[in-house]
Amino acid sequence: MSEKKYAVVGAGLVGSLLAVILAKRGFKADVWERRPDMRKNGLQGGRSINLALSNRGLKALELIGLREEVKHLCIPMHGREIHDESGNTRFTQYGKDGEYINSISRSGLNEMLLKKADEYSNIKLHFDERCDDVNFIKNEITFHSESDGTSKNQYDIIFGTDGAFSAVRQAMTRSDRFDFEYSQNYLAHSYKELSIPPTEDGGWRINKNALHIWPRKSFMMIALPNLDGSFTCTLFLAYHGEVSFDHLKTGEEVNSFFTKYFPDVVPLMPTLVEDFFANPTPALATIKCGPWYIPDKCVLLGDAAHPIVPFYGQGMNAGFEDCTYFNQLIDQFGEDWSKIFPEFYKLRKPNGDAVGDLALMNFVEMRDLVADPVFILKSKIDRKIATLFPEKWNTLYSMVTFSDMPYSEAMRLGKDHQRILSKIVEDHKDIENILETDSARDILQKYVN
Ligand SMILES: Cc1cc2nc3c(=O)[nH]c(=O)nc-3n(C[C@H](O)[C@H](O)[C@H](O)COP(=O)(O)OP(=O)(O)OC[C@H]3O[C@@H](n4cnc5c(N)ncnc54)[C@H](O)[C@@H]3O)c2cc1C
Repeated sequence: MSEKKYAVVGAGLVGSLLAVILAKRGFKADVWERRPDMRKNGLQGGRSINLALSNRGLKALELIGLREEVKHLCIPMHGREIHDESGNTRFTQYGKDGEYINSISRSGLNEMLLKKADEYSNIKLHFDERCDDVNFIKNEITFHSESDGTSKNQYDIIFGTDGAFSAVRQAMTRSDRFDFEYSQNYLAHSYKELSIPPTEDGGWRINKNALHIWPRKSFMMIALPNLDGSFTCTLFLAYHGEVSFDHLKTGEEVNSFFTKYFPDVVPLMPTLVEDFFANPTPALATIKCGPWYIPDKCVLLGDAAHPIVPFYGQGMNAGFEDCTYFNQLIDQFGEDWSKIFPEFYKLRKPNGDAVGDLALMNFVEMRDLVADPVFILKSKIDRKIATLFPEKWNTLYSMVTFSDMPYSEAMRLGKDHQRILSKIVEDHKDIENILETDSARDILQKYVN
């Protein structure tokens, strides 16, 4: 067992997964979390908040033997169900038959990971302890706790997994030993979590095996199912402007906004106005920074390294994939962090940037393009080519969601495919009909090579 002292700052999704990976290797680590122990306190504010877990996340969970266990917390979502303003719905399958993403409770998954980490005697979990600063000369972390005040602890190696507004990252930006690049881009949109409760007998009021989207061009709402029959809905809307949170200040304004734009959901949301005013309107940002490490001392993983907007459902999946790569590098280099940190950064930075860009692109796709006839046609051709030539072509969504191809490579191929799809639409005005005929294969083949 290693003699080194390790600290994991932040026991969210990525920090608690990383803690288990370190634990399994026999490393001695303290895990520090600002919030109380969620296993004792239950759901945050009683709300059930969920996430889409897909291939990259599942692969990381497999490393720590939780891939099967986690399935008990999941509801498969086989495609998107689009709701138009008249309440009509259209279902589009995500991938090939048998491919789906999973709706999972954020707190349920976090608790499962914490419980797993707690099974190891070489891991010590500390709750209600906020990291306020890191001194990288001594590699000393300053913590603050309501009950015990301020304490300082020195470590050989510090892992910063304290999320999008990471205190460890902020300390890095202040470190004069560090040439730190940093850019942040806040969206003009915020979000509001709302809820559709279960039916009287505990069932789901809308299709439980879909990710529901109400695209409204400059804004949208989505809903993911929970195991208890409820749905967590998220409204993404601009802070300011003609249609914005600025104009939703009273119960009447909220009711008339929803009745106008989401008429099919209003009868399903009996606590709409209460939820609307009880829940926050948080900021959404993409942050690109680097390097993510201080040689031999500290490294950032997950949202602390690459916070992204949530529209591809990949933030957690990307953070879990960081852990997969990290684990492979420990296999390769043992405890030689002087080799692991730069290699990790080299492998993951282009992909952190790419998934951030993909997430921004998907916002436009989800709120606007999914209702656009040319986009719908191109998506149909895209899926047809993927079915006819699976060895040569995959949709961007599938590459991101159902494969573990580097995000940067998926983005590059996705852009190439878009150019080809535009060319097909331009060359064949009757392509929609052709897709239904036997000549589709011959016509599309020449675009694929
Ligand atoms: C609305 C929304 C929907 C999303 N949907 C999806 C989705 O469908 N699929 C997906 O893959 N991703 C999704 N994401 C992204 C996902 O939530 C994040 O990528 C993921 O939570 C990152 O995990 P993390 O552990 O790096 O950070 P976090 O989950 O934020 O965890 C950080 C932890 O550090 C703690 N902490 C923070 N500061 C300190 C401090 N100073 N000292 C000590 N502890 C600290 C926090 O309390 C927290 O426990 C979504 C995000 C949002 C906002």
